[in-house]
Amino acid sequence: MKRFFQSFYWKLSLVFLLLLIALGIAQVTITYNSSMQFVRQADQKLNLNLAENMASEFETELEDELDISRIKSSIHDMMVVNPRIEIYLLDPFGEILAFFVEKGREVNTDSVNMEPVHEFLNNPQSDLILGQDPRNPTRTKPISVAELDIGRQEPGYVYIILGGEQYDSALSMLENSYFLQTSLKIFGIILLVTGIVGMILFAFLTRRLRRMAATIEKFDEGNLNQRVPVDSNDEIGRLAQSFNSMADTLQENVKELKKSDQLRRELIANVSHDLRSPLASIQGYLETILLKGAELSDEKREKYFNIILKNTVGLRKLVDELFELSKLDTQQVEPETEPFSIGDLVQDVVLKFEQKAAEKDIQIEPICPSGMPLVRGDIAMIERVLSNLIENAIQYSDKGGQIEIELEKQNSSVAIQVKDNGPGISEDDLPHIFDRFYRAEKSRSRSSGGTGLGLAIAKKIMELHNREINARNRENGGSVFEIELDRA
Ligand code: ADP
Repeated sequence: MKRFFQSFYWKLSLVFLLLLIALGIAQVTITYNSSMQFVRQADQKLNLNLAENMASEFETELEDELDISRIKSSIHDMMVVNPRIEIYLLDPFGEILAFFVEKGREVNTDSVNMEPVHEFLNNPQSDLILGQDPRNPTRTKPISVAELDIGRQEPGYVYIILGGEQYDSALSMLENSYFLQTSLKIFGIILLVTGIVGMILFAFLTRRLRRMAATIEKFDEGNLNQRVPVDSNDEIGRLAQSFNSMADTLQENVKELKKSDQLRRELIANVSHDLRSPLASIQGYLETILLKGAELSDEKREKYFNIILKNTVGLRKLVDELFELSKLDTQQVEPETEPFSIGDLVQDVVLKFEQKAAEKDIQIEPICPSGMPLVRGDIAMIERVLSNLIENAIQYSDKGGQIEIELEKQNSSVAIQVKDNGPGISEDDLPHIFDRFYRAEKSRSRSSGGTGLGLAIAKKIMELHNREINARNRENGGSVFEIELDRA
């Protein structure tokens, strides 16, 4: 119950009902006032000449002086005919000389305000002129006025209050008016029906809000699949839409968070694994050297030292690449792009790997057509990408292999392909080779010193250049890695 009185529906209904009641009160007041005005106006119009007629009758009976007793009887006759009038005889200044009101009623003032009297006489056709009621001097009522010769220099007045006491209160007017009673009853019924229909409509309209609140509560409790049905384009519909898209974003973010948490765990597992084996190997050989001491032949000692050195180099490479990747990840380094000649850069990198390629009797051939435009990028980063690709190509090619680095001008970019005729990449591995720590042939790669981070770094660098890196197998064996760079 408490919840009901706190509900939006209840507040809305309450405001609506209060407005209806205010409307009712305003309507009744306006009806009363305008009816009152109407009745008074009608009274005045009907009795416009009443005072005039009366005055002409009195004047025959008034010769030299005001003889009240002589006119009393004729007035009495009139009041029998029309009991709602009260008649006053005024001197030129408004002093009441005589009055004729129903028996038992009191007159509470000696004079009346003359302003309405003059107004009435000057402009008898005006809408409604209210004069002071001598029996109730704070009130005004419709009047009829006429001049009357009272045997003085200036004329006196016949001052008639119309309507008497009849409509002093709204209630008495209501009691007397069938029209008012009926219209008030009809109005009451209309208000009641409007109130009921309004409450039903509000219940219907706020039902969508209640449904939405229930859905959001469930969402809040952790059920992230909850969505609000959107069945209109009004404010509530738009609110529902906004909530839904917000929920989508939230759900997506939660998924992302879970994924990156998972990645972080995997990374830690991979790193610790990749650190542990070379460290264990280093420790083992060092212990052997120390333990055996002079017993070891020079040959063996050198072999052990070489293994230790190889492991140390591998560890160094792993740590360096991890550090580099994390810098790229956290965007500590921004690419500093500038125009440069990609042909020259390829030449430099090829030169760097010449020795290594020669060891495996591998040919590296840059194919750079003339008129190659400058490209835009971070030279150091692009050199890193090319180095990783060429190093891989050498590493995974067989002895006597052939590597081509082909540049091709395109509309808005230059494509660089690193092709080898090695074993290629199996279709299962292809989608994963850019993942961190992914090695196609795990045991071989590890023993060969690969960290599984080289392609991940290359991909990250290309992302920072808003470009992709792609790999595919060649038809006649071997693989192709392709990147594109914007023309400067
Ligand atoms: P790694 O340090 O192992 O070379 P990379 O990220 O550079 O790590 O490469 C990921 C994996 O992709 C490699 O282990 C290898 O299996 C595969 N790969 C990369 N380049 C080539 C290539 N040119 N030919 C065949 N396989 C490749």
